[in-house]
Amino acid sequence: SNRAETLEFQAEARQLLQLMVHSIYSNKDVFLRELISNASDALDKLRLASMVDKDLEVDTSDLHIEIEVDKAARTLTVRDNGIGMSRDEVVQVIGTIAKSGTAELLRKLRESADAGARQELIGQFGVGFYAAFMVADRVELVTRRAGETGGTRWESAGEGTYSVEPVDEAAQGTSVTLHLKPADAEDNLHDYTAEWTIREIVKRYSDFIAWPIRMTVERPGEGDATTTETQTLNSMKALWARPRDEVDEAEYKEFYKHVSHDWADPLDIVHMKGEGTFEYEALLFIPSHAPLDLFAPQGRRGVQLYVKRVFIMDDCEALMPNYLRFVKGVVDAHDLSLNISREILQQDRQIQVVRRRLVKKILATVKDMKANHAERYRTFWTEFGAAVKEGLIDDTENRDTLLEILSVASTHDPAEPTDLAGYVGRMKDGQSDIYYATGESRSMIENSPHMEAFRAKGYEVLLLTDPVDEVWVERVGEYEGRTLRSIAKGQVDLDTEEEKKAAEAEREQQRKDFADLLTWMGTTLADSVKEVRLSSRLTTSPACVVGDAHDITPTLEKMYRAMGH
Ligand code: ADP
Ligand code: MG
Repeated sequence: SNRAETLEFQAEARQLLQLMVHSIYSNKDVFLRELISNASDALDKLRLASMVDKDLEVDTSDLHIEIEVDKAARTLTVRDNGIGMSRDEVVQVIGTIAKSGTAELLRKLRESADAGARQELIGQFGVGFYAAFMVADRVELVTRRAGETGGTRWESAGEGTYSVEPVDEAAQGTSVTLHLKPADAEDNLHDYTAEWTIREIVKRYSDFIAWPIRMTVERPGEGDATTTETQTLNSMKALWARPRDEVDEAEYKEFYKHVSHDWADPLDIVHMKGEGTFEYEALLFIPSHAPLDLFAPQGRRGVQLYVKRVFIMDDCEALMPNYLRFVKGVVDAHDLSLNISREILQQDRQIQVVRRRLVKKILATVKDMKANHAERYRTFWTEFGAAVKEGLIDDTENRDTLLEILSVASTHDPAEPTDLAGYVGRMKDGQSDIYYATGESRSMIENSPHMEAFRAKGYEVLLLTDPVDEVWVERVGEYEGRTLRSIAKGQVDLDTEEEKKAAEAEREQQRKDFADLLTWMGTTLADSVKEVRLSSRLTTSPACVVGDAHDITPTLEKMYRAMGH
């Protein structure tokens, strides 16, 4: 129609789409999970909006997701009656990628030649809606925002452009129709018009989705006739509300992928329940890799807040301290108002109690990893250690636990970082402080002249190379009564009191032993030198001639002679 506009994808979006169209991700089935996940989010948002905004006129009596296939036309449609999108939202969120870390992802993808590594990167990033282009050569989306009258139709073949146009008739919510590529076993493209394929994918990836996912299926009827019936494909059980022993590993993993938008498995799972005056359930995950925006100032937090199964907000900063911002998951608090704002949450005493318990549990989980699952702990520390160390600066309540789970590089072993307990265990007799050096890299620190004396002494030095290290070592100051001391600051006196006394006693003894020799030499050389004495400055030469502190140097003496003095 002439109301259609053709627009260009933002450059970064176009590059990601290219990757999807030319499909470097081998598990194509996950496109359905992405579409269902978006539909589920849209239903969550609508339910919340209808509760909070009494003027919003929407029917929320039958919120659901529908999957429809047309075998003849080879299309698959995922439809929801959720919040929908306005025309501007469609252009904003589908035509561009606002996610932080996109540029970083694309740069890494360009640099990486290895197909496996590239897949992993895509998986870490999670490409959401664009995953549809792995299985479809054309995607149509029709949507109407709750409360608005007109709708929007969007269409694209996943190349450089898409079209948008207004539509008068559109059901509230969103429907996404994929024009499927031909099934191709070699390319892992299954027949996504087949009922059993869809059933299996929904069961595997989206069973816990809290809204019914329905499909109308055909069944043989009387004689030649076929009847149709609508079935719900998922069990809809809120995973976090179920007892731990009734949830299997695969369900946890799929749920993690739903809440985190990550395609990789989590590293660890924390499932807990709080009873008493303030009831809550928490299902938290430690990812297996850091997000690309872990250190971006506007980077996202990972915990969602629900109130009695109703989604309230993403990125709930009141539930997790900043240094644990990579933790993902859900907290369902039973006694909060649905209207609660972020500001009020930050002040809420009970939320603060929940947060303290969550933090303790996460740190206990890491501690257990360190004690019992070395490989997993190593991954954890490599990915998140630099963020966790931020906790040493202001989380004084958990400082001892944080110091226990800390790992740092050390001169003891170039390949293995150490913990502070390990360092203390290796301290030399008479060593009372813990020595550290900060710098840009291990090699820069190791080549610094400050290191010489420590190397000579055989003292281990912790090598701190993260920017946050300077700050926490200052703030923490000591570990188990031993001062954390920089090798580069102030006078570092490596000798202990005993060593100093022993050295003085030795010199005294030598003066006695050599008294006769010195007297004889002094008399014999009386015309040439002022004094003969024992030296402590030489290690290999037997003797040398030195001047008094106020004498002129041999070079100056020569110069004066040449000038005729
Ligand atoms: P993400 O889900 O991580 O935000 P997606 O690429 O999956 O990323 O989706 C991008 C955005 O498009 C969503 O955040 C949402 O705003 C919008 N969107 C996608 N699908 C729907 C839908 N079915 N209903 C409403 N909005 C949607
Ligand atoms: Mg999504």
